[in-house]
Amino acid sequence: MVHETERDGATWYACDGCGMLFDVREDAESHEADCDGEEPSYIQ
Ligand SMILES: [Zn+2]
Repeated sequence: MVHETERDGATWYACDGCGMLFDVREDAESHEADCDGEEPSYIQ
């Protein structure tokens, strides 16, 4: 699921599966729905 986190005074939305941060909740939820819980292979 997606959880909110604050960084540098701004609210971010983090994927609990892989920890990726999004500035838009919808983007985070869209990602989370397709997240396999591991870090994306394209991010090294
Ligand atoms: Zn994820």
